[in-house]
Amino acid sequence: MSSKITAPRGTQDLIPPDSARWQELEARIHALAQRFGYGEIRTPLFEATELFVRGVGETTDIVEKEMYTFTDKGGRSMTLRPEWTAPVMRAMLEHSLLAQGPQRLYYIGPIFRYERPQQGRYRQSHQFGVECTGYEAPEADAEVMSVAWELVQSYGLRDAALKVNSIGDDVCRPRYREALLAHFRPNIALLSSDAQRRIERNPLRLLDSKEERDAPYVASAPRIEEFLCDACREHFAALRADLDLLGIAYTIDPRIVRGLDYYTRTVFEIQSSALGAQNAVCGGGRYDGLVRSLGGPDTPAVGFALGIERFLTMVETAGATPARKRDGVQAIALGAQARATLLPVAAEIRRLGVPAFMDYEERKLLAHLKIADRNGARFALIIGSEELTAGQAVLRDLTSRTDRRLALEEPRVLAAAVVEAQAV
Ligand code: ATP
Ligand code: MG
Repeated sequence: MSSKITAPRGTQDLIPPDSARWQELEARIHALAQRFGYGEIRTPLFEATELFVRGVGETTDIVEKEMYTFTDKGGRSMTLRPEWTAPVMRAMLEHSLLAQGPQRLYYIGPIFRYERPQQGRYRQSHQFGVECTGYEAPEADAEVMSVAWELVQSYGLRDAALKVNSIGDDVCRPRYREALLAHFRPNIALLSSDAQRRIERNPLRLLDSKEERDAPYVASAPRIEEFLCDACREHFAALRADLDLLGIAYTIDPRIVRGLDYYTRTVFEIQSSALGAQNAVCGGGRYDGLVRSLGGPDTPAVGFALGIERFLTMVETAGATPARKRDGVQAIALGAQARATLLPVAAEIRRLGVPAFMDYEERKLLAHLKIADRNGARFALIIGSEELTAGQAVLRDLTSRTDRRLALEEPRVLAAAVVEAQAV
């Protein structure tokens, strides 16, 4: 006896009816991105490991411990995509898009991170994100935030909160870094082991520590606000003014720093109390230094990534899932001759753009109606021996439970009559 094979830890199968919720969300995302002028990009599931080491940063959780890295048969080190921004920038460089002026791209698809699976944290998860390149102006930052915010709003998710911060740039961040080091160093022995490990390489990351031991030292840490240079301060002020103009409610949160090394100035998150410990559904910001670190020209860029699984948890918690509407026609044939009559009618109904379902077993009418329910059919088109003799079919409205009779015409004509009847 061989043991059962299950899906790998931290991965999920997506099956009906849940897959319909995903499709609905994806359809909304495609329409939303289009309204903002973003075009879709799809990149390979795996890339050269070097891309992520350079493009995400060696001191990040992702590169330090979360990558699915393997050596292919040609001896090359490859990594399953743990995030999209580096691959998108790689592709933009490769196709010389950046030389053609500002660009707007979006993506939807899986990411892979070797994490400890728990609520809201998986080894394969999915992200929707956008990247807007070529604009230094804070209007671009406000634009990408409003893409994410519109999606949240379209589901009426009231417990979502937008938190923004500025983490400065190469001019002012080094001074802040020094101030943080001076603050944390005297207490280093009291900090969590993660914090101790990170402090020298990336002290900003201590600010988003979730360890209780670190909390008091994080709370009393100096704030970036006082360290921002004039240019960063102005950029942040202008961004806030733009968000006000757009009517987007936000709060400033000095603890939002984002885990990735390549951020400059703007950083933001959308958080929700519906998510528990993993409370961020969306993270983003500006990363003006990334393209250059990948060997490209200096390119201002801003974007976000939003977790689809966490977003759908929010939708579900808010009860914002649209009720499944009954739709389509269950073609119910009682007997072989009726089945031969209905088969082409069902085909014609589908050609007219209306769903049609059919069961191919010999069953009682009641059993067929149960199947119609399971399929969510709005109507049943029923033919038994009586109907065949009378030259009629019964069209039953499964919501109002009323019947009407349609003449048994050739498939096209009958299908058209069914479609017309169900349209009202
Ligand atoms: P976290 O704080 O949860 O570790 P992160 O900083 O690693 O988040 P990002 O890399 O910014 O997350 O990814 C953006 C979004 O993608 C997150 O806000 C979250 O919604 C989603 N996400 C990231 N990693 C996972 C995961 N392992 N499982 C499910 N969703 C994830
Ligand atoms: Mg993470």
